[in-house]
Amino acid sequence: MTGKGGRRARVALAVLLVAAVGPACAAEGKPAGNPAPAPGQQREYQAAPAGSLAEYAERLRRSQVARVAAAKKWGLVQPPLPTPPPPSVKPEIKTRKGFEAGPGLPPVFTTVPVEERVVFLTMDDGAEKDPKLLRMMTELGIPYSAFLSDYLVREDYGYFKKMQDRGVSLQNHTLNHPYLPGLSYAEQQHEICGQQALIEKRYGKRPSLFRPPYGSYNGETLRAAKSCGIKAVPLWAAEAFPDRMEWREWDRDLHPGDIILTHFRGRGDWKGTMPDMIRRVMKTVTGKGYAVARLEDYL
Ligand SMILES: [Zn+2]
Repeated sequence: MTGKGGRRARVALAVLLVAAVGPACAAEGKPAGNPAPAPGQQREYQAAPAGSLAEYAERLRRSQVARVAAAKKWGLVQPPLPTPPPPSVKPEIKTRKGFEAGPGLPPVFTTVPVEERVVFLTMDDGAEKDPKLLRMMTELGIPYSAFLSDYLVREDYGYFKKMQDRGVSLQNHTLNHPYLPGLSYAEQQHEICGQQALIEKRYGKRPSLFRPPYGSYNGETLRAAKSCGIKAVPLWAAEAFPDRMEWREWDRDLHPGDIILTHFRGRGDWKGTMPDMIRRVMKTVTGKGYAVARLEDYL
């Protein structure tokens, strides 16, 4: 989309969004029905290509109704805010200051440079394989990315196939989850490129993202990752647990584009289940006015 057309379409979408979610948010005592758009907005709406946008609004309305019902079912304090459409121009990702390991390597970052109030949810390792998590995330419409380590995933490849079938992209977190800086270049390459090949063989798609175990890497890690097709190395700005959030930034808060880390874990390691963790993290995310978006849509 061009700048002007894109802006017009976005304004029209915003109006439709208000119209679509309006009834569910209407305060008690107010008359039911769509709020009347402001005169200027109405003109934008009428000028927009009616068919596709009207369909989009209807889809949005239905998904909001479903989200409210799902939030109730899964015990969320508030329904998740709707995920905005993917950006038409992807942001330029640069390595975070202080995280550099040499020129020409895949960028290492903890936050995606965006202005919209979106954050990204990423889950690591693969130990806990809770079927409730799959249903919960699908019904709530919350996107996330999985960073898988084969030594845990191999116990049940089928679980992650179901996840992939539900639109989750499966990314690389090494074969055996070692502390990579302690390994030679060849050993690191085996851990990273081996997992690339394995995910491609099992799931038909080669990852483009890699996260080093413990967030630990050196220049050889990034060179090895680049050698087998890794484009970017997302770390995290905050970590979610069933009973708390842990923050990287001094202000102990979320920021637009922050990547949130959590794990496939359950009561063996945590004071709660994966659905408990999702309830906790979504209370924070929605409460602070953020929507969860799909990381791959921005990279
Ligand atoms: Zn890990």
